[in-house]
Amino acid sequence: MTREKLEDLLRDELCAEESAPIRAHLRTCPECRAEQRVCESLTEAIQRGCKEKAPAQLRDAILAQLQGS
Ligand SMILES: [Zn+2]
Repeated sequence: MTREKLEDLLRDELCAEESAPIRAHLRTCPECRAEQRVCESLTEAIQRGCKEKAPAQLRDAILAQLQGS
């Protein structure tokens, strides 16, 4: 499972056919669920802070913060 896929899923950019196996995997994989939560927080933080597409730098900064690094 890649972060990219999780982000696509969270942005609802995947069709049902694509998202079904990912959702099924999330149900069985605690690691990916944890990753999904990070992605969700990231997505929310970006949406709060910036209505437009977040610059890569901002994204990285928020992500680093969420991961406690
Ligand atoms: Zn997984």
